[in-house]
Amino acid sequence: MEKIFSFIHRHRYDIFYVFLLFGILCLIAYILPQEETKSILDTIESKTFDIRQKIISKDKKANKDIVIVTIDDPSYEYLIETYGDWPVPRHVYAELLHYIQEQKPKFVAFDLLFIKSLKRIPQSDEKLIEAFKKYPNTYTAINFDDYSFEIRKPPLLNKKITTDINIESKSIVPYEYSNCRPIMSEIIEATGNIGHINTPKADDGLIRQIPIFINYPDYNEKDYSKIKIRNYLYMTVKMAIDYLNKYENANINEIKVDSKNNFIIGDRIIPLTKNAEAILNWYGESGIRKGNTFTYVSMWEVIKSLRAKKSGQPQILKDDFFKDKIVYIGTSVFALSDIKTVPTSKYMPGVEIHATLLNNILENNVIHKASLPYNAFLSLILSVLTVLIVFKVRSVYVSLTLLTMLIFCYIYYSTFVMAKYNLWIWIIIPLIISLIVFVISFIIKYLITSRNFEYTYKLATTDGLTELYNHRFFQEQIRIQIRNAEKTKGNFSLILIDIDFFKKFNDKYGHQAGDAVLKHVARTLKSSVRTEDFVCRYGGEEMTIILKNAKRETGVKIAQNICSTIASRKYELSPELEVNITISLGVATYPENGTTPTDLIEYADKCLYKAKENGRNQVGFLD
Ligand code: GH3
Ligand code: MG
Ligand code: MG
Repeated sequence: MEKIFSFIHRHRYDIFYVFLLFGILCLIAYILPQEETKSILDTIESKTFDIRQKIISKDKKANKDIVIVTIDDPSYEYLIETYGDWPVPRHVYAELLHYIQEQKPKFVAFDLLFIKSLKRIPQSDEKLIEAFKKYPNTYTAINFDDYSFEIRKPPLLNKKITTDINIESKSIVPYEYSNCRPIMSEIIEATGNIGHINTPKADDGLIRQIPIFINYPDYNEKDYSKIKIRNYLYMTVKMAIDYLNKYENANINEIKVDSKNNFIIGDRIIPLTKNAEAILNWYGESGIRKGNTFTYVSMWEVIKSLRAKKSGQPQILKDDFFKDKIVYIGTSVFALSDIKTVPTSKYMPGVEIHATLLNNILENNVIHKASLPYNAFLSLILSVLTVLIVFKVRSVYVSLTLLTMLIFCYIYYSTFVMAKYNLWIWIIIPLIISLIVFVISFIIKYLITSRNFEYTYKLATTDGLTELYNHRFFQEQIRIQIRNAEKTKGNFSLILIDIDFFKKFNDKYGHQAGDAVLKHVARTLKSSVRTEDFVCRYGGEEMTIILKNAKRETGVKIAQNICSTIASRKYELSPELEVNITISLGVATYPENGTTPTDLIEYADKCLYKAKENGRNQVGFLD
């Protein structure tokens, strides 16, 4: 029992660190699989994506051929002033479309919902419908939702606006909506160029990804039971496909999602999330604030220009401003609630998100996430380097500095691969793993070095044969005891021991037997004193004991006990041979017999000599 306690006592720091290590591992094993943890890690990872995007978007150039006609605050004021109300009558959009189309743009897209409104002005709507019929390169939007059927019966959508997608992947789960805000059915009849504009937000309210397609069912007209689930493309994806067919002769006749969740249109590969979303690559802060993204023009400027043209007056915009351009028309007024928060901007008009996706597809630079094995590989490399830093570097400060540098290098690398290869590698998980590895390595390193230290300390202070403290330790300890006793005005005793006629013993039984006896004596001495006392081999067959806080009487008494114990013991050298030996002892006590190590040892030595003189096997005294 005592052995167990002393083992625990000796290894208390090791045991503490092993428990700490075990505790850390248990905590990690418990925390990591939690849903909340995953969501928090995901959000933090997304924030690192935002920072990377902000950094790399400085060097990216948005396609200036993408023009956004924005219904901004001045335009909104101008329209209400001119037409008396919002929404403006649809012939205004018809006029706008005619004006733009006359300049031969590549595409025109309305990021607006031409819904069935109560305030319909039929002649006005008719003009827009006619315009849609006239220009097959014109697009518009539809928005899906999940309103209850009691509030609104879901519209039965014309099949011409659906798209058949060949989905080879088993793991894709597109967003599925059950209802949708009806837009004018005549517009759907007039054009098939209608795509959804749903943009779900991430947990932190930001838009980083766009559903390339969503699902909405064909309903049975009578009871609204689902007949068939159909795919609906995002408006801009429809435009992108038509662009590739028309301007790059892509000849796309199959739209598919391959088994690796890539959305494939011609030679463009858009990696999808499990909800069929594409992660956008941003072009910096929104153009309405800084003017550094797409070409922006205010709606009021376009309307004034078209009016000026009609009346033959000078226009604000050049006559060929929209020639060969891809034109988006959408709002950027807060009041019309189509302002989004995206990684690079707090105020991005919804229409600029379309422009961004189109630019991404045309440039083939949609973001793709690194695969799990690649991320795991990077984490492994980071961890190995961390372990090397901890074990190869002696100073804690240097290794902390190196670790910080390693982290910065990793963050730099992650930004570099996003800029160069549109690749999103994890930052947060590898860094957390690396920090955990750092802490664990430190604990292990501490355990190893403390074990080494203990071993070296033992080697340096112990006598190999008897396992008693050695001469050096004795000299050091006696100085420590003198210092302590000085401070506390206490005392301590020193016993010097010499085996009697040991030379003869050696001569008679051999050196090996002598060694065995030395060991026995050492053991007996140890068991005769308290654990806090120090039993040392002074040299040869001489030993000393430092008895802490022992007055002279105590010292003498203990010495006498030891003397008789040794004399009474028999040592079995072989089964047939038992021997016994005796010792002579001298005792010196601090401070009465001396106040320096030399004085004390000399005094004890003289006593010992007296014991020898008086016939051995006794404690000697000077008087
Ligand atoms: P006494 O002390 O009673 O006067 O006689 P002694 O024979 O013991 O004399 P002394 O102390 O001078 O002798 C020391 C002897 O101890 C010399 C040597 O043979 C023996 N000795 C010293 N160290 C060792 C050791 O490590 N192993 C063995 N076996 N013998 C040792
Ligand atoms: Mg001797
Ligand atoms: Mg001797």
